[in-house]
Amino acid sequence: MTHIPFATNFVEPAGSPIRELFPYLSRPGMISLAGGYPSPSLFDTEGLQEAAARALSGPGALQYGATEGLPALREALALLCGARGITCSPADLIVTTGSQQAFDLLLRIFIAPGDTVCVETPAYPAAIQALRLADAQILSAPVDEQGLDVEALAERLQRLPVAQRPKLLYTVPSFSNPCGTLLPAARREALVRLALEYGFLIVEDDPYGELAFTDERPASLYAVGQRIAAEANPVLYLSSLSKTVAPGLRIGWMIAPADVLRRCVVAKQTMDLCTSPLAQQIAAEYLGAGRYPAGVERACAEYKKRMLALSSGLRAGLGSNIAFVQPQGGMFIWARVAVPVDAKRLFEAAVQCGVLYVPGAAFYPENPDLGTLRLSYAAPDVEQIREGVARLTKAFDQASTS
Ligand code: PMP
Repeated sequence: MTHIPFATNFVEPAGSPIRELFPYLSRPGMISLAGGYPSPSLFDTEGLQEAAARALSGPGALQYGATEGLPALREALALLCGARGITCSPADLIVTTGSQQAFDLLLRIFIAPGDTVCVETPAYPAAIQALRLADAQILSAPVDEQGLDVEALAERLQRLPVAQRPKLLYTVPSFSNPCGTLLPAARREALVRLALEYGFLIVEDDPYGELAFTDERPASLYAVGQRIAAEANPVLYLSSLSKTVAPGLRIGWMIAPADVLRRCVVAKQTMDLCTSPLAQQIAAEYLGAGRYPAGVERACAEYKKRMLALSSGLRAGLGSNIAFVQPQGGMFIWARVAVPVDAKRLFEAAVQCGVLYVPGAAFYPENPDLGTLRLSYAAPDVEQIREGVARLTKAFDQASTS
């Protein structure tokens, strides 16, 4: 135990509410519908082994690299973005250690204590955690079953004193974490126009956009910003290979204007000098080998199957006790308990019955809706999902009657 006082924000730091569930995971036989982990059965180990062997055959992977990222990977990521409808060159992006780091870099360069950041709520918990550590003033923006409610946000911004206007707005518009929603094209355009009107930047976090179960693929906010505002695009784009290749690579990236990237590079220099050149070289070799599109296609098919198993299981087992919108992509179902059940009791009963989910409170910066929960269908297989739902149904019965 040290006698040196910790910095204010680390005296009693709140850890990740999801990582705090980890001890339950090690209980024998536990079925987890909790974490946002991709399915290990989808990892292309053969392709990654080949990529790793090629990466290690040259010297570059074992040496320090440029903070901006390895040129070969920046090139491959620019091409990947092209396939997503985003026009960019390798110089328009930097490689980050997961997209999580990209968000943290943006907070470092833009946010002084007390600056306002608008966040769709419910939100990805690690984004809330990063904002708290940055001492940002968090402005919650409501969401509905289509994602961010842009009209409600516009009304809120209109009422807000100029000094409290946000500098940044954080959103996951495509198959969000936790709600699984897909923001419609009209709202995307309205949001970009709102950013231009009120002078804030949109941080578009897009780790799930390619994991689509239907052909409905609205253009990314970044592409909308390019179309509407060209050089004055108010959207910064973050993405990651974590959900489509493997999170163990820790490869993310950010597209932003040169003045933003330059400052992020300086901030990154003090964090990790550069993202692991070994991981970057493997990722570059992997993308270069052309195996990525087939991997994404496999993931979409498998996750759709698992999502359908979870949705139909919930409907059959819990019926009108639970309400949710069936997602069109991604990894999550966001559900609301439709009858009065104590949230703590339900969670305890679920753990007792051997199934884990994330209580919804984790996704709110304030005033949590305790009747909500996030269920992930990505990691367990269909059999495990069926058994998980059976256990959840039992937990529900126990919690409602005890
Ligand atoms: N953003 C969102 C919305 C996520 O769900 C996650 C991972 N759960 C991340 C960012 C972090 O991804 P990475 O592994 O690239 O840091």
